[in-house]
Amino acid sequence: MSHDVVSPVDETVIASVDEMGEAKVDDAIARAARAHGAWAAIAPGDRARLLARAAEAVDAAREELAHLEVRNAGHTISNARFEAGNVRDVLAYFAGSPERHFGRQIPVAGGIDVTFREPLGVVGIIVPWNFPMPIASWGFAPALAAGNCVVLKPAELTPLTAMRIAALCHEAGIPEDVFQVLTGPGSTVGWRFVTHETVRKICFTGSTAVGKRIMAGCADQVKRLTLELGGKSANIVFADADLERAAATAPTSVFDNAGQDCCARSRLLIERSAYDRFMELLEPAVSAFRVKDPSSEDAQMGPLISAEQRRTVEGFVPEDAPVAFRGRAPDPPGYWYPPTVLAPVQPGDRVAREEIFGPVLAVIPFEDEADAIRIANDTPYGLSGSIWTNDLGRAIRVSRAVESGTLSVNSHSSVRYWTPFGGFKQSGLGRELGPDALEGFSEVKNVFISTAP
Ligand code: NAD
Repeated sequence: MSHDVVSPVDETVIASVDEMGEAKVDDAIARAARAHGAWAAIAPGDRARLLARAAEAVDAAREELAHLEVRNAGHTISNARFEAGNVRDVLAYFAGSPERHFGRQIPVAGGIDVTFREPLGVVGIIVPWNFPMPIASWGFAPALAAGNCVVLKPAELTPLTAMRIAALCHEAGIPEDVFQVLTGPGSTVGWRFVTHETVRKICFTGSTAVGKRIMAGCADQVKRLTLELGGKSANIVFADADLERAAATAPTSVFDNAGQDCCARSRLLIERSAYDRFMELLEPAVSAFRVKDPSSEDAQMGPLISAEQRRTVEGFVPEDAPVAFRGRAPDPPGYWYPPTVLAPVQPGDRVAREEIFGPVLAVIPFEDEADAIRIANDTPYGLSGSIWTNDLGRAIRVSRAVESGTLSVNSHSSVRYWTPFGGFKQSGLGRELGPDALEGFSEVKNVFISTAP
């Protein structure tokens, strides 16, 4: 069995990909388990060198990978170049860790007590369609660095770059059974990772609904689990902020990747006294947002990923929605949807509560600092967010009060591979990236060695 991969840019079929059934998945997991002993036993410096070579191979193929993602996912070419570069950087960063994956020596009487960080074995990584390249690497690079073998399932809609990256890693010397990409439906391939006893950890990025099912499934074997789930992040703009800069950058913070970003600042909270001025500044920034063929060098936004995703987004903007203004988008073919600003929106409205995962911004006025914090936290999610103010004390107070894993002040910084990333509340469990990422891919073992004569 196979399934077609369709380009969201022009709706043409660009590839046909194997739909693996359970028997093939089981076979791949068995091969990964057999490969594990040798992979875990490689000298740390040699494992580091293989990861560094993989980073170089990805770097050399950056342009090819970027164009593949433009076709497969509709990402703008500038974003896709950044994403391929991100895979290179993540590999290079974690190539620095095998020799530094320390245990500890703890003082005890009558001997020596040391801890080791043991690899888990086979790790299953499940990836969504919105950022196929970076999200795959945030899982497989630290997992491999810690001495695990990886089975990775890309999303059905966007498998092509993961397949290519795995091939590049193999060319760089990482054995094929150590890092395998398995294509097919989540309910078959992904779910088998959850139920198979040899897979010791699931690293899942995707919707909160599927994440909850996976968490429940993992309970059966007390399987290790990292979840990176949905978001409804707030961009909080206080009246004392640099309103020009806040308005100029707000479109990118929500419309980048056509809003299909778990960190999208899809709620804009604006202090009521600055509402009129801010909306005056926001309108030209939104109409100037360049939605066009994503292979154009100056494109800022491409199409949505699929016809189904477009129907979902349209469902959030019915005839009587409070559309304040919209940008422009090309006509079909392609799953286009224009940047859309809804204002004013009440905090209880559906568009202010549910993750839309499309280019729709809900503007919500607030009265004061306490009101802003209350509205920002009035959501089951807690992934990202931004705070705009020129008052340093307020910036720190609000950063500490907002229940969210990754915040930026007077900017919309994206995820950095050398700092921790993850969500509060129903946005996730555990942290990826940064200096502690390998802890999530290893078990601590404590050994006491007696020195008794
Ligand atoms: P999804 O949950 O539908 O699918 C994600 C992956 O899980 C896919 O590979 C899918 O095939 C697989 N899957 C589906 N059902 C499964 C099952 N029963 N068992 C095992 N695997 C299964 O999500 P999506 O639509 O691909 O991606 C969009 C969602 O991902 C959004 O909610 C977004 O916020 C979230 N996301 C979160 C982050 C983060 O880091 N927090 C990053 C990107 C995307």
